[in-house]
Amino acid sequence: MGKLKFFFFPMMAQGHMIPTLDMAKLFSSHGVDATIITTPLNAPHFTRSIQRTHHSSISVLTIKFPAVEAGLPEGCESIDQISSPDMVPIFFRATDMLQDPLERLLQDSRPDCLVADMFFPWASHVAAKFNIPRLVFHGTSFFAMCALQTLRLYKPQRTVSSDDEPFVLPNLPHKIMLTRLQLPENDRHGTETDWTRFLRKAEEAELSSYGIVVNSFYELEPDYADHYRNVLGRKAWHIGPVSLFNREVEDKAHRGKESAIEELECLKWLDSKKPNSVIYVCFGSMTDFTVSQLYEIAMGVEASGQQFIWVVRKGKNEDEENDEKWLPEGFEERIKDKGLIIRGWAPQVLILDHESIGGFVTHCGWNSILEGVCAGVPMVTWPVFAEQFYNEKLVTEILRIGIGVGARQWQMRVGSDCIKREAIAEAVKRVMEAGEEAEGIRSRARALKDMAKKAVEEGGSSYADLKTLIQELSS
Ligand code: UDP
Repeated sequence: MGKLKFFFFPMMAQGHMIPTLDMAKLFSSHGVDATIITTPLNAPHFTRSIQRTHHSSISVLTIKFPAVEAGLPEGCESIDQISSPDMVPIFFRATDMLQDPLERLLQDSRPDCLVADMFFPWASHVAAKFNIPRLVFHGTSFFAMCALQTLRLYKPQRTVSSDDEPFVLPNLPHKIMLTRLQLPENDRHGTETDWTRFLRKAEEAELSSYGIVVNSFYELEPDYADHYRNVLGRKAWHIGPVSLFNREVEDKAHRGKESAIEELECLKWLDSKKPNSVIYVCFGSMTDFTVSQLYEIAMGVEASGQQFIWVVRKGKNEDEENDEKWLPEGFEERIKDKGLIIRGWAPQVLILDHESIGGFVTHCGWNSILEGVCAGVPMVTWPVFAEQFYNEKLVTEILRIGIGVGARQWQMRVGSDCIKREAIAEAVKRVMEAGEEAEGIRSRARALKDMAKKAVEEGGSSYADLKTLIQELSS
């Protein structure tokens, strides 16, 4: 039999495209021909890296993204370009329109497998038309998938009478408490909404698919990898952490968008600091902070007394970009030897993997958490939206490798429930300053780093699961 041919079709979001490219590299290193399907403006994100690393068995196919037809501005092809929450459903409408072009691609190319994002529930049906097995990629943890499923099945949020009264997520291996405030607004009362209807569709698509691939490793969340498979009865293969396949500096430095800082400049700055002495502060590709919240972050990291790298996403419109009201007066002058502000995109994995990084303030996006785990760094958790409040629980309560900053509310734009500078400084100090608590966190984080590395090496749990999947599909 010839080489297996896999198509990968990620959601147009950095948090999905970045791990998909890593996955394609991983599968190709196991002898699979990988093709990534994406839209024209997202294609360079993949082609640049493929050309640089000479991965000849990975190719890219593009399909037109109907931005204008769906009601989005021309050129809006990635969800992180969206400037208001109202545009999210429109973006989804545009992605639904990709169904026909995908069908034509599958008809012409007949791959052996389609790995399509959970945000494309219709992909199961399209693949089935041509008898092509479809795998689902959620881009999150087993833990978050189990928690979401429990919420859907039992609606425990209905058992409490106020938004800040904690309730237990039933039937999970650990006692996990949440409040309604930590759920998306339209999920707070357990009623049917467009979002819950979408999730049901995605679940049906998953149940009719061949199974799911998970960017995680067994040793990180064994109870939940088992729960997902044995209690919820799903077919899943864990194959991560896929970011570990970026071994060279070049690969680590060029993931996702173009960095706003030269890698050499960044490394030089990091090299000048002592081991474990810098806290890295970054909130992923989508988090939107108000000016006043950014101001509090600045004051908080300064008050922590720690050295830091702070990644500030630029505003989405020109005014915000040029207006730096979030920067306290004289801040850059005061922190000049201590802190580095990166305005825009940072080479995150390159930074995290540097020995001078001693902690990570994260919004708990799953890729960021895994990258933090692979680097063995303690975390300060500050979940904002999506499934980030679940991921925080895994980090702070189950793995115990992080400390929460005290985020209480799920919100698309962080500001109304502002986290104060004192809370930020306190959490940062707790992970960075010497002491029993910090040592415990650091040693557990280090142990997980080793486990992550072992999982993807020959004989490791993720390596074995990937082999099993490929063998199963070959026969
Ligand atoms: N990332 C990066 N530089 C940045 C911001 C983000 O390289 O300045 C990468 C990060 O390493 C991760 C991805 O973008 O791989 C973000 O995914 P995550 O799931 O953490 O969060 P999301 O952006 O989806 O909320």
